Amino acid sequence: MIDAQCYYEGRWHEGRQGRRFSVENPATNATIGSAVAAGVEDLDLVIQSAVRAGASWAESPPERRGRLLQAACQAIMENQEDLARLLTTEEGKSLREARSEVAYGARFFEYYAGESVRIFGDTMPSASGSRSIWTVKVPIGVSALITPWNYPFAMICRKMAPALAAGCTVVVKPAEQTPLIAAQLFRVLEKVNLPPGTVNLITGDPEIIGPALVGDSRIRKVSFTGSTSVGRLILRGAAANITSVSLELGGNAPFIIFDDASVEDAVNGIMACKFRNAGQICVATNRIYVQRGVAAAVQDRLSEAVQHLRVGNGLDDDAQMGPLINREAVKKVAQHVADAVQRGATVAVGGEVREGVGFFYMPTVIAGVQDTMQLAQEETFGPVAPLLIFDAEEEVFGRANQTPYGLAAYVYTRDLGRAMRASKTLEFGMVGINDPVPSLVEAPIGGLKASGLGREGGHEGVLEFLETKYVSTRF
Ligand code: NAP
Repeated sequence: MIDAQCYYEGRWHEGRQGRRFSVENPATNATIGSAVAAGVEDLDLVIQSAVRAGASWAESPPERRGRLLQAACQAIMENQEDLARLLTTEEGKSLREARSEVAYGARFFEYYAGESVRIFGDTMPSASGSRSIWTVKVPIGVSALITPWNYPFAMICRKMAPALAAGCTVVVKPAEQTPLIAAQLFRVLEKVNLPPGTVNLITGDPEIIGPALVGDSRIRKVSFTGSTSVGRLILRGAAANITSVSLELGGNAPFIIFDDASVEDAVNGIMACKFRNAGQICVATNRIYVQRGVAAAVQDRLSEAVQHLRVGNGLDDDAQMGPLINREAVKKVAQHVADAVQRGATVAVGGEVREGVGFFYMPTVIAGVQDTMQLAQEETFGPVAPLLIFDAEEEVFGRANQTPYGLAAYVYTRDLGRAMRASKTLEFGMVGINDPVPSLVEAPIGGLKASGLGREGGHEGVLEFLETKYVSTRF
């Protein structure tokens, strides 16, 4: 059994009310551990810890912060295998994917170790010539980092590393399905000797601690990754104290394959984009638009590839795809497929729940999907590849943009002009041209429209945890 407690003042603490909740392995339904169900009293202590450490961390030499972040990267990689095994056990993804998520998370610490010494302001000429004007970047303050279950390790790292580089102390609130991997990250970070109070962890029911955390006046930044519906609640909660908010929310990504593209590359791209983590990825394609001339070839090749995907417990060496996170997730996927079939779509591969233990839905290809079906309207968050047909470029760009979401879009073409038009026309924060996995550490990741506010990763990621202070001197 694995145990997660709250972490503050550099130590582990049981909850004041002594309540806990259990955590299940989605591949076996076995209980694997439990975490503290914290109350508002615990939350107060956690925030207090971050506040106490805040001033000295903000004033600490950037080079020292950078060294600690570099050490964090190293400590994570030294524990990569153990972290990956726990990640698979708790979240379900295959071990190969879990190792890669841990390495991805570690790279954020490495990247922001470098960034910590490159935080600087500007000078600018005054219009009258009799003033000296300059800016300085200052840490925004104590930051609440609220993360989802689908990339429960990397999403913490993607927020924590830039926050620490900027000089902010943090309170992490992981998802209820995945508190154990968050606690394990904290155990690894203990080896780095960050000053007590720099990083803090609280686990529990978001209805109790969520609004209290977001609405606390000591919190100056909320960095949230999760669903658009909860993102709206966070925005409302942050309004009370005009707290700065970054939101990485849901998507509905189009994947457009033109006649001139390599069908083989496009199908490999779909496999990487759609079936990783059993399709539970914010940037996973939700709508695959195929130009009529290559529709049959794409369907055949994709069906062939999907049929060979090995589904099983992520800890098994040969499993390529694991379970979904819980029963509700399986129900939602089954509902979307049933809606499409009822309205005339045809299942080419899969299309069924795997009976027995675990929350498995078989990898699926479904053809004849229309824009109005649930599969194309809502984030399915499962291993279902819906194929839609189009004829013309202008038509498909218009259909792709017909969504309130704007996180990621993918285009497969060999025509440079078309690629350039796609990058300009598609209303999405990330456009992958012949690239199915553009979520790079060094790139600004984030969405337009209902997919969010702000960016994570790259230089822009650290700016989310900084404010600009401006000084004018008359002479
Ligand atoms: P979620 O239900 O919105 O939960 C996200 C986090 O918010 C969890 O820690 C959750 O805690 C917490 N939470 C829930 N209600 C809250 C409240 N009222 N106040 C404060 N916190 C609250 O999302 P999810 O199901 O975990 O994650 C899947 C979603 O995340 C998908 O929509 C996916 O697209 C999105 N996502 C986006 C990105 C991106 O980069 N844009 C990356 C990954 C995932 P509990 O778990 O305890 O409820």
